[in-house]
Amino acid sequence: MMIQEVAGNAHKNCSVCGTRRASALWMAFDGELLCCEHCGLKHLPQLIADAVVAEQGSDIEHAKALMIERFDRAVEHANARIQAKGS
Ligand SMILES: [Zn+2]
Repeated sequence: MMIQEVAGNAHKNCSVCGTRRASALWMAFDGELLCCEHCGLKHLPQLIADAVVAEQGSDIEHAKALMIERFDRAVEHANARIQAKGS
């Protein structure tokens, strides 16, 4: 979720780089994962690729298509939440 949706988290730093202000938050099993735009674009795709490729039987083309489809859906959902909040 976007950081502005979570009260009290507006000024927390990114869990990946530790220096930039986080713009998104994910509730992981063992705590919060905060991420800035830079790390979301530059580093998280590598984490996803490593997770998928590590599974020997993964169909990379299927995984890529699924990731793009879910990213598009997530962007639509985030935009809808921003618009609903502004109205
Ligand atoms: Zn970062």
